[in-house]
Amino acid sequence: MEEANTTTHVAIIPSPGIGHIIPLVEFAKRLIDHHGSFTVTFIIAGDSPPSTAHRSVLDSLPPSMSSVFLPPVDLSDVSSTAGIEARISLTVTRSIPSLRELFRSLSTEKKLPAVLLVDLFGTDAFDVAAEFHVAPYVYYTSNANVLSLLLHLPELDQTMSCEYRDMTEPVKLPGCVPITGKDFPDLFEDRNDDAYKWLLHNAKRFKEAKGILLNSFIELEPNAIKALQEPAIGKPPVYPIGPLVNLGSSTNESECLNWLDQQPHGSVLYISFGSGGTLTCEQFNELAFGLADSEKRFIWVIRSPSGVANSSYFDPQSQTDPLMFLPPGFLDRTKEKGLVVPSWAPQAQILAHPSTGGFLTHCGWNSTLESIVNGVPLIAWPLYAEQKTNALVLVDGVGAAIRAHTDEVGIVRKEEVVRVVKGLMEGEDGKVIRNKMKELKEGVVRVLSEDGYSTKSLGEVSLKWKAHQLEIEQDTTH
Ligand code: UDP
Repeated sequence: MEEANTTTHVAIIPSPGIGHIIPLVEFAKRLIDHHGSFTVTFIIAGDSPPSTAHRSVLDSLPPSMSSVFLPPVDLSDVSSTAGIEARISLTVTRSIPSLRELFRSLSTEKKLPAVLLVDLFGTDAFDVAAEFHVAPYVYYTSNANVLSLLLHLPELDQTMSCEYRDMTEPVKLPGCVPITGKDFPDLFEDRNDDAYKWLLHNAKRFKEAKGILLNSFIELEPNAIKALQEPAIGKPPVYPIGPLVNLGSSTNESECLNWLDQQPHGSVLYISFGSGGTLTCEQFNELAFGLADSEKRFIWVIRSPSGVANSSYFDPQSQTDPLMFLPPGFLDRTKEKGLVVPSWAPQAQILAHPSTGGFLTHCGWNSTLESIVNGVPLIAWPLYAEQKTNALVLVDGVGAAIRAHTDEVGIVRKEEVVRVVKGLMEGEDGKVIRNKMKELKEGVVRVLSEDGYSTKSLGEVSLKWKAHQLEIEQDTTH
């Protein structure tokens, strides 16, 4: 193949939300650094100008990557109670005409991409890919167990007559942890809801992809991944290429890192609920009291409490000062042991710091992988999206986390906080999980090595993409 002079152009449409962009940027870096000559264009759809956190990610892209903003779409007719997923899907769907315009002008300039990569909610963009003979691919940012559930969703939807939460038996998919209705992702909760309909719509279109890239790795989910790789009609090839995570920048100075430098090795529990997670007032207080009672060291990224678990999704900065919501006396009581950080912290660097010995997480998949890469054991405290299912996979499937249990009204009480924090940081369960994490961290090094499983998987896809670029360059009609 005469690939020496050919640069392959890949276009990526991340779903709105910084949690979606970060892994795709990491993916693009990996592709460019390890798999030959590629340029990547991020095509950004939204219903408003991007947030500061969003911009800072896009402004620091390396030279072989660029970004294009599509005109913001109008979502003023969408009910304020519509779920995030419906808003995300509608944003992508309503951006299709401007995407088509963009592809038209790229085609005139002979700069069309060879590949269009979308994530979970972006499959409507496949229509434009098909019109311009651009190869459609999915980048799946979560794990193999949840991907398997999604690929089976059209069939489950046909065969189940009840709501999934009312199923009497868990769903057992090949190679996967059995999933009971209560651990299904939130989007499956109400089959009449628009969010579920959008999920089903996108899941049905997955089969149109030429391949699905998966941000997981064989040593983390061996059985689920092997089962996904069994060829079947209507199932695109699945390439496990992870874990690809944001490693942060080593030059980043911050109060947290300076504070961590002063703490004993492995002694600090890092607590964060991702880019958008928020707790109710009651839950916020229980966590605060539990942390203080545990007497362990911690860094806690706090947001102003809210009744909606993902209320900060589109903008992680709290509008009011979150410190105001801490119980009276909390800062005084914990000042020797804890650091409270409003809204946002340099998570990648915190997890890589030797003083960090545990992570209480909402189980977002990026956070999970960032912890695994650093061998940091987890407390699973899922809030929304597919986080309950991730928690199940991490606790029952992998053995990498202790689950924080809620009471009958859905609150994790302070006594439970003390149990899981002490259990992870000093108990026997913690030791077992720590050892598992150590194994997984070594596994990460193996799969991402030059000959490793994930590197080879991405190598295989990248060869297909290069071949398609050559084909379209030779086809003058493209
Ligand atoms: N993150 C961060 N600082 C914070 C909160 C989050 O750097 O204070 C980053 C985190 O490192 C991860 C991403 O934001 O890369 C969150 O993604 P994840 O999939 O864990 O959760 P989501 O935000 O999508 O729920």
